[in-house]
Amino acid sequence: MSDQPPRSVRKDFPLSGLATVRTGGHAELFARAGGEPELVELLGWAKRAGVEVNVVGSGSNLLVADEGVSGLVLKLDRELAAIELDGTSLVCGGGARLPSVAAYAARNGLSGIEFGVNIPGTVGGAVRMNANAYGGELASALEWARIVSSSGSRRRAPEELGFAYRGSNLRPGEIVASVRFSLVASDPVTVKATLAQMRTRRHEAQPQGIKTFGSTFKNPDDPRAAGRTAGLLLAQAGCNGLSVGGARFAPKHANFIENTGAATTADVVALMAEGRRLVIESFGVELEPEVQTLGAVRFPWAS
Ligand SMILES: Cc1cc2nc3c(=O)[nH]c(=O)nc-3n(C[C@H](O)[C@H](O)[C@H](O)COP(=O)(O)OP(=O)(O)OC[C@H]3O[C@@H](n4cnc5c(N)ncnc54)[C@H](O)[C@@H]3O)c2cc1C
Repeated sequence: MSDQPPRSVRKDFPLSGLATVRTGGHAELFARAGGEPELVELLGWAKRAGVEVNVVGSGSNLLVADEGVSGLVLKLDRELAAIELDGTSLVCGGGARLPSVAAYAARNGLSGIEFGVNIPGTVGGAVRMNANAYGGELASALEWARIVSSSGSRRRAPEELGFAYRGSNLRPGEIVASVRFSLVASDPVTVKATLAQMRTRRHEAQPQGIKTFGSTFKNPDDPRAAGRTAGLLLAQAGCNGLSVGGARFAPKHANFIENTGAATTADVVALMAEGRRLVIESFGVELEPEVQTLGAVRFPWAS
C-alpha cells in the first residue's frame, strides 16, 4: 500500500481563515473530508504514516499556534456538513453549522435545538465542547453521535460521551462524523419566534461583528468568585478594553477577546495571562481557559 497521502491532502495550509479570531499559522498538512469513506481513508493513511490528526469545526473556540500545527488538520465538508430531515429527527454531518441546524429545524416545525441559533460552531465542535446556551442542553436533543477514528466507527449515546461543563470524553483523533437529533413537532411560527427572541437577547448582551472565539475563560467553580461569571470577574478586575498588541478584551464583554486588526496568538495568550493575573490579584480566583488550542500554544501559568 502506498505511503503517499490521499490526493485531497494539501501542504502548508493557512489556518487563520478557519478560526473566527483570525490568528495563527499554517497546518503542515490539511484536507477536507466530504464523506465518511474519505474520512476513513485519511485517518487510515495518517495512522500508517504516524501523522497526528486534529479537526477544526468553525474554529469558533479555537486558538491556533503562530508557529503552525504539525501533522494533518481536517475539516468536514459536503456530506459531512449536510442536514437531513427524517420524521421529527435531523441527521446532521459533524461539519453542519449549529445556527443552520436550528434554522432548518424551525422551518420544519421542530423544537429542541433552538439554543443552537447563537452558537457559531459546528455540530461536531458542539459535541466535543458540550456547547449550550440559555438553558438549552445538547444532550437532551442528541440521540447519538457517530464517532470515527483510526480504530473504526461507532455510534455513541449521550451517556457515553462523558459530557461535563464545556467538555466531553472525546480525544484528539476521535471525530464526530454525524449526529442524530431527536426533536419535537411544534408550530414553525412559534419556533421561529423563539429563535428571533434568542438572537435579540444575544445582540443585547454581546458585541457583534468582532473577530473573537467567544468565551475565553470558563466560569469558575470557586467560592471566592461568589457566583460571579468569568466575564464579571474580569470586568471587576478592570479588564474591559485592556489590550496587548492587536488583542483586546472587548469593551462590552470582558470574557471575549477580540482581534482588533493584526493580533497574533502570542498577543492573545499574553492578554489572557494579564487578565488572569488581575483576577487572581483582585479575588484570588484562578481562571481556566475555555478556548481550545491547536498546535503548541503554551499558557505561561500552566507548568
Ligand atoms: C460569538 C461567539 C459566541 C459563542 N457563544 C457560545 C455559547 O453561547 N455557548 C457555547 O457553548 N459556546 C459558545 N461559543 C463557543 C463555540 O461556538 C462553541 O464552543 C462551539 O461548540 C465550537 O464549535 P466549532 O465547530 O467552532 O469548534 P472549533 O472551535 O473548531 O473546535 C473546538 C474543539 O472541538 C474540536 N472539534 C471540532 N469539530 C470536531 C468534530 N467534528 N469532531 C471532534 N472534535 C471536533 C476541535 O478539535 C477543538 O478541540 C461562542 C463562540 C463565539 C465566537
